[in-house]
Amino acid sequence: MYRTHTCGELNATHVGQVVTLAGWVHRRRDHGGVVFFDLRDRSGLVQITINPDLNAESLERVSAIRMEWVLQIEGVVQKRPAGMENPRMKTGEVEVIAKNVQVLNSSKALPFMINGETDLPDENTRLKYRYLDLRRERMTNNLILRHNVIRFMRDYLDRQGFLEVETPILFKATPEGARDYIVPSRVYPGQFYALPQSPQQLKQLLMVAGLDRYYQIARCFRDEDQRGDRQPEFTQLDLEMSYVHRDDVLAMVEGLYTAMIPAVAPDKQLLATPWPKLSYREALERFGTDKPDMRFGMELVDVSEIFARSEFKVFKSALESGGAIKCLLAPNSADMSRKEVDALTELAKSQGAKGLATLSFTDDGVKGTAAKFLSQQEVEAVKSRAGVRAGDLILFAADERSIVNKVLGNLRLVFRDKLNLADPNLLAFIWVVDFPMFAWNAEEERWDTEHHPFTMPQLADLDKFDTDPGAILSDAYDMVCNGYETASGSIRIHRRDIQHKIFELLGHKEADIQMKFGHMLEAFEYGAPPHGGMAPGIDRLVMLLADEPNIREVIAFPKNQNARDVMADAPSQVEQKQLQELGIRLSGTP
Ligand code: ASP
Repeated sequence: MYRTHTCGELNATHVGQVVTLAGWVHRRRDHGGVVFFDLRDRSGLVQITINPDLNAESLERVSAIRMEWVLQIEGVVQKRPAGMENPRMKTGEVEVIAKNVQVLNSSKALPFMINGETDLPDENTRLKYRYLDLRRERMTNNLILRHNVIRFMRDYLDRQGFLEVETPILFKATPEGARDYIVPSRVYPGQFYALPQSPQQLKQLLMVAGLDRYYQIARCFRDEDQRGDRQPEFTQLDLEMSYVHRDDVLAMVEGLYTAMIPAVAPDKQLLATPWPKLSYREALERFGTDKPDMRFGMELVDVSEIFARSEFKVFKSALESGGAIKCLLAPNSADMSRKEVDALTELAKSQGAKGLATLSFTDDGVKGTAAKFLSQQEVEAVKSRAGVRAGDLILFAADERSIVNKVLGNLRLVFRDKLNLADPNLLAFIWVVDFPMFAWNAEEERWDTEHHPFTMPQLADLDKFDTDPGAILSDAYDMVCNGYETASGSIRIHRRDIQHKIFELLGHKEADIQMKFGHMLEAFEYGAPPHGGMAPGIDRLVMLLADEPNIREVIAFPKNQNARDVMADAPSQVEQKQLQELGIRLSGTP
């Protein structure tokens, strides 16, 4: 028997017992003849005390023992002497007096220290030695939290009558707006499977199959540029329901999350229940983005009307060309330095704005780049519309409405971080609804779907198909939390004619439609029930619950930011023989 107890479970109730433990040397301290080890396993740490009267064999072993060696310790649990307790350790009331020390394995010197949160190396080194990185308490806790989240989801959905069904990884392209990972077939040379960008088609087919309520902890594969916080593969709670309208799906998922969060992350508070619902339009107008962080105010204020007759050239030309003027109030920021304002202006420019105009309400009067161009009346009107108080800074963007929203929406986040406006323990979940069905792809001169092509257009808009596709709203919805899109979903098309029309509008030729989606269209001809669903991302949720800055911290073996597995060094070349079997000849790098 390797062990009778785990390290972290020992406490005063075990005093006097002989225990056997197995674990890693987390720390070693030598105190004039007495040696202390903190022994660690997944459950935590316990102090092992090696007294000089230990048997000679064990004592000899102890002298060689270094960090992260694997030991088996037999010993007696004792209460620590008065004053020697460690209230920061779960097992801090007790220690184990060693009677026997066995070395189960040794360890090379570590590439980085894993017994503290400081001095961590760069991320690639952590990823190369991920098995060591995961030994760190913080990382282990992230995986435990992830486990708890998934377990809660499974239990909850089981009680709600959902069936967990696995769907294939080797499948056919399912468009979610990214490039596919493809897998060559040996049996059918020249043909390929695609890894699913999501189980979207399969879960809809499960509804046609009468499964009624489905979920899966599903891996999705998307070959996207590794901008920001993305992974080539990530995990979603994929779910689908039959005979539902939008609000039935939202209520189901909101119910799950509202029950789950206090259970798995008791320090977190939900900003509001029921969750607020915002239309896509309203989100853009008020917060400049369709994924607003609602933990703080600083809403965008439309001041176009105030400047309808302005002589300020920048404002005038924006309005004349059909644009808008909006502003953002940054509290207590009137004393921002010129340099800081310039940096914000650069940021605005990088997002398409021509510049930024400012008004600062200082003790010595109204300053800022717009001050000398605005009349007293205009300044007063802005003051009262935006609710300015002494010491505040106003930032204006004047441009096409979409640029104005984007620029101010981003500046809002800059001030959130600069002024610490968002409480990290708050989770501000909202629903964003009524998305446009299509977005114009100017590069390829065709329509794209905003969500995916299986999304149901709002029925009231169906007559706009031939006249004004851009005005059609869809029955899609997003779950948003603290500025992140944490889920998206939709009511689906279950009628062949509508689905076909969408594919046509997206520019697919008939043969193409049949080749790619013939199976879906055909299935819809056999009594497909009305259905809808969504897919909350699990990585991002756990990231938010764990207060981690990116999703790699909550994935056991993530790729790095360049889509490489630096531990196994993948992707890598394969043997010539394998390529031959697949009928593949490399033509060099593209
Ligand atoms: N398949 C969608 C996605 O991965 C979610 C959904 O519509 O259920 O984003």
